[in-house]
Amino acid sequence: MSETLDKRKDEASAPVTADQLEADQLEADQLDPDQLEADQLEPDQLEPEEAQGEAATESKIDPEIAARRDAALAHVRQFGDPILKTKARQIKVFDEALRSEVERMGSLMDDALGVGLAATQVGVLHRLLVYRVQSGGPLGVLANPTLAWASREEEIAEEGCLSLQTVHVEVERPVHIRVSAQDAHGEPILVEASGFEARVIQHEMDHLDGVLILDRTPRDQRKAAMRSLREWQLRSDG
Ligand SMILES: [Zn+2]
Repeated sequence: MSETLDKRKDEASAPVTADQLEADQLEADQLDPDQLEADQLEPDQLEPEEAQGEAATESKIDPEIAARRDAALAHVRQFGDPILKTKARQIKVFDEALRSEVERMGSLMDDALGVGLAATQVGVLHRLLVYRVQSGGPLGVLANPTLAWASREEEIAEEGCLSLQTVHVEVERPVHIRVSAQDAHGEPILVEASGFEARVIQHEMDHLDGVLILDRTPRDQRKAAMRSLREWQLRSDG
């Protein structure tokens, strides 16, 4: 997680693209070990469930839908891009440009067959996320979200991420949450969510702090995920 940019969050509200950031490639191997220790889970706590999280479960999909998904994913920053490890900045201006950004994120998320997307993932360092946990349901939009309350009860489930294709790892999160945020017009909102919806929101809020599911999964699963990511990156580069 980068603290450097966070200190500057009050100075600018303009989006920053990854191109403006240092080009060093960051790897999960370089993460702060203390942070990972805190997220270690006891193996006997693991209860494999069906895949949840941001990315749709891989199944047979129509070639046209697959092509649209690939086109959308081309706009989603992938693991290794330093912006994914960067803390996003508070939104101060709620204008038409912001609402277009929300619209674009919603379309990309739908086309990518995702259930959530954070602005960071499309290269914009805004504290902004969208989600839709039921197909055909309303688009959830949270600007400047903060966790107001989280239940002590936690749950482990498998998550995927549009920025970490091929990766599915188990993540433990509170089951119930309350989030205060603003809508696309800057009006204050309070969202209460449970289960899958709460998980998606927390996953996206993590992105705004530069935290990925790899930072929240047990070490053994993280290692396997890193291996599969490297193989995937080699295949994509070749
Ligand atoms: Zn994600």
